[in-house]
Amino acid sequence: MFLQIFTKFFMAIRIGFGVDFHQLAEGRNLWIGGVHIPHQKGGFGHSDADVLLHAICDALLGAACLGDIGIHFPDSDQKYKNIDSKILLQQTIELIRKESYRLVNIDSTLCLQEPKIKPYIQQMQQTIARIAGVVEKDVSIKATTTEQMGFVGREEGVIAYATVLLETI
Ligand SMILES: [Zn+2]
Repeated sequence: MFLQIFTKFFMAIRIGFGVDFHQLAEGRNLWIGGVHIPHQKGGFGHSDADVLLHAICDALLGAACLGDIGIHFPDSDQKYKNIDSKILLQQTIELIRKESYRLVNIDSTLCLQEPKIKPYIQQMQQTIARIAGVVEKDVSIKATTTEQMGFVGREEGVIAYATVLLETI
Protein backbone atom coordinates (compact mmCIF):
# COMPACT_ATOMS: atom_id res chain seq x y z
CA MET A 1 0.00 0.00 0.00
CA PHE A 2 2.74 2.42 1.03
CA LEU A 3 4.64 1.45 -2.12
CA GLN A 4 1.58 2.20 -4.28
CA ILE A 5 1.16 5.65 -2.71
CA PHE A 6 4.90 6.30 -2.99
CA THR A 7 4.87 5.23 -6.65
CA LYS A 8 1.86 7.43 -7.43
CA PHE A 9 3.19 10.61 -5.87
CA PHE A 10 6.95 10.41 -6.00
CA MET A 11 8.08 8.09 -8.78
CA ALA A 12 7.84 10.50 -11.67
CA ILE A 13 9.68 8.64 -14.43
CA ARG A 14 10.17 5.05 -15.57
CA ILE A 15 12.35 3.55 -18.28
CA GLY A 16 11.44 0.60 -20.50
CA PHE A 17 13.31 -1.53 -23.01
CA GLY A 18 12.00 -3.75 -25.80
CA VAL A 19 13.49 -5.96 -28.47
CA ASP A 20 11.85 -7.90 -31.30
CA PHE A 21 12.97 -10.21 -34.10
CA HIS A 22 11.22 -11.38 -37.25
CA GLN A 23 12.21 -13.65 -40.08
CA LEU A 24 12.10 -12.15 -43.55
CA ALA A 25 10.20 -14.22 -46.11
CA GLU A 26 9.35 -13.93 -49.81
CA GLY A 27 5.77 -12.96 -50.55
CA ARG A 28 5.20 -11.06 -47.31
CA ASN A 29 4.65 -7.31 -47.02
CA LEU A 30 7.40 -5.41 -45.22
CA TRP A 31 5.88 -3.24 -42.49
CA ILE A 32 8.27 -1.26 -40.31
CA GLY A 33 7.25 1.53 -37.96
CA GLY A 34 3.70 1.43 -39.30
CA VAL A 35 4.89 2.13 -42.85
CA HIS A 36 4.73 -0.22 -45.83
CA ILE A 37 8.13 -0.47 -47.51
CA PRO A 38 8.28 -1.95 -51.02
CA HIS A 39 10.67 -4.93 -50.92
CA GLN A 40 10.78 -8.50 -52.24
CA LYS A 41 10.69 -9.87 -48.69
CA GLY A 42 8.60 -9.03 -45.66
CA GLY A 43 8.38 -9.91 -42.00
CA PHE A 44 7.07 -13.36 -41.20
CA GLY A 45 4.73 -13.61 -38.23
CA HIS A 46 1.20 -13.99 -36.93
CA SER A 47 0.48 -10.26 -37.18
CA ASP A 48 1.83 -7.91 -39.85
CA ALA A 49 5.24 -8.60 -38.20
CA ASP A 50 6.12 -4.93 -37.70
CA VAL A 51 9.34 -5.44 -35.76
CA LEU A 52 9.75 -1.80 -34.73
CA LEU A 53 6.20 -1.32 -33.42
CA HIS A 54 6.48 -4.59 -31.49
CA ALA A 55 9.75 -3.51 -29.84
CA ILE A 56 8.15 -0.17 -28.91
CA CYS A 57 5.07 -1.93 -27.47
CA ASP A 58 7.33 -4.17 -25.37
CA ALA A 59 9.32 -1.17 -24.13
CA LEU A 60 6.10 0.64 -23.14
CA LEU A 61 4.75 -2.43 -21.34
CA GLY A 62 8.13 -2.98 -19.69
CA ALA A 63 8.29 0.58 -18.39
CA ALA A 64 4.88 0.13 -16.77
CA CYS A 65 5.79 -3.40 -15.58
CA LEU A 66 2.81 -4.83 -17.48
CA GLY A 67 4.48 -7.92 -18.93
CA ASP A 68 5.10 -8.25 -22.65
CA ILE A 69 3.33 -8.08 -25.98
CA GLY A 70 2.78 -11.86 -26.04
CA ILE A 71 0.71 -11.68 -22.85
CA HIS A 72 -1.57 -8.90 -24.10
CA PHE A 73 -1.81 -9.91 -27.77
CA PRO A 74 -1.14 -13.69 -27.93
CA ASP A 75 -0.25 -15.14 -31.32
CA SER A 76 -2.51 -18.09 -30.50
CA ASP A 77 -5.51 -15.73 -30.76
CA GLN A 78 -7.06 -15.60 -34.23
CA LYS A 79 -8.19 -12.01 -33.72
CA TYR A 80 -4.54 -10.91 -33.99
CA LYS A 81 -3.91 -12.79 -37.25
CA ASN A 82 -2.38 -10.37 -39.78
CA ILE A 83 -3.43 -7.49 -37.51
CA ASP A 84 -2.10 -4.03 -38.26
CA SER A 85 0.45 -3.45 -35.47
CA LYS A 86 -0.59 0.22 -35.31
CA ILE A 87 -3.71 -1.11 -33.55
CA LEU A 88 -1.49 -2.98 -31.07
CA LEU A 89 0.48 0.21 -30.40
CA GLN A 90 -2.74 2.15 -29.89
CA GLN A 91 -4.00 -0.45 -27.42
CA THR A 92 -0.64 -0.50 -25.61
CA ILE A 93 -0.73 3.28 -25.22
CA GLU A 94 -4.22 2.93 -23.74
CA LEU A 95 -2.92 0.31 -21.28
CA ILE A 96 -0.16 2.59 -19.99
CA ARG A 97 -2.59 5.53 -19.74
CA LYS A 98 -4.85 3.38 -17.58
CA GLU A 99 -1.86 2.98 -15.25
CA SER A 100 -1.52 6.80 -15.17
CA TYR A 101 1.58 6.99 -17.35
CA ARG A 102 2.34 9.26 -20.28
CA LEU A 103 4.99 8.63 -22.92
CA VAL A 104 7.86 11.13 -22.86
CA ASN A 105 10.06 9.85 -25.69
CA ILE A 106 11.18 6.81 -27.67
CA ASP A 107 14.64 5.95 -28.93
CA SER A 108 14.98 2.98 -31.25
CA THR A 109 17.40 1.18 -33.57
CA LEU A 110 16.60 -1.15 -36.45
CA CYS A 111 19.09 -3.74 -37.66
CA LEU A 112 18.54 -4.80 -41.25
CA GLN A 113 20.70 -5.28 -44.30
CA GLU A 114 18.23 -4.34 -47.03
CA PRO A 115 16.39 -2.19 -48.03
CA LYS A 116 17.67 1.21 -47.01
CA ILE A 117 15.02 2.65 -44.74
CA LYS A 118 16.31 6.20 -44.39
CA PRO A 119 13.74 7.53 -46.90
CA TYR A 120 10.93 6.15 -44.72
CA ILE A 121 12.12 7.25 -41.28
CA GLN A 122 10.25 10.55 -41.16
CA GLN A 123 7.01 8.86 -42.16
CA MET A 124 7.56 6.26 -39.41
CA GLN A 125 8.21 9.02 -36.87
CA GLN A 126 5.02 10.83 -37.89
CA THR A 127 2.95 7.63 -37.78
CA ILE A 128 4.21 6.57 -34.34
CA ALA A 129 4.01 10.10 -32.89
CA ARG A 130 0.38 10.44 -34.02
CA ILE A 131 -0.64 7.16 -32.37
CA ALA A 132 1.41 7.73 -29.22
CA GLY A 133 0.28 11.32 -28.68
CA VAL A 134 3.75 12.86 -28.85
CA VAL A 135 5.56 15.00 -31.40
CA GLU A 136 7.89 13.74 -34.13
CA LYS A 137 10.97 14.89 -32.18
CA ASP A 138 10.00 12.50 -29.39
CA VAL A 139 10.33 9.48 -31.69
CA SER A 140 13.93 8.69 -32.60
CA ILE A 141 14.49 5.93 -35.18
CA LYS A 142 17.99 4.89 -36.16
CA ALA A 143 19.04 2.12 -38.50
CA THR A 144 22.14 0.05 -38.99
CA THR A 145 23.24 -2.98 -40.98
CA THR A 146 25.31 -5.69 -39.33
CA GLU A 147 28.03 -5.36 -41.99
CA GLN A 148 26.78 -8.54 -43.68
CA MET A 149 27.28 -10.58 -40.50
CA GLY A 150 24.80 -13.07 -39.08
CA PHE A 151 21.14 -13.64 -39.96
CA VAL A 152 20.53 -9.93 -40.44
CA GLY A 153 23.47 -9.71 -42.82
CA ARG A 154 22.17 -12.70 -44.81
CA GLU A 155 18.78 -10.91 -45.04
CA GLU A 156 17.08 -13.76 -43.19
CA GLY A 157 15.70 -11.52 -40.47
CA VAL A 158 15.35 -8.13 -38.88
CA ILE A 159 15.78 -6.86 -35.31
CA ALA A 160 14.47 -3.77 -33.55
CA TYR A 161 15.47 -2.36 -30.18
CA ALA A 162 13.51 0.36 -28.39
CA THR A 163 13.88 2.34 -25.20
CA VAL A 164 11.08 4.52 -23.84
CA LEU A 165 10.65 6.94 -20.99
CA LEU A 166 7.31 7.28 -19.23
CA GLU A 167 6.24 9.77 -16.62
CA THR A 168 3.35 9.63 -14.24
CA ILE A 169 0.41 11.81 -15.21
ZN1 LIG B 1 7.07 -9.06 -33.43
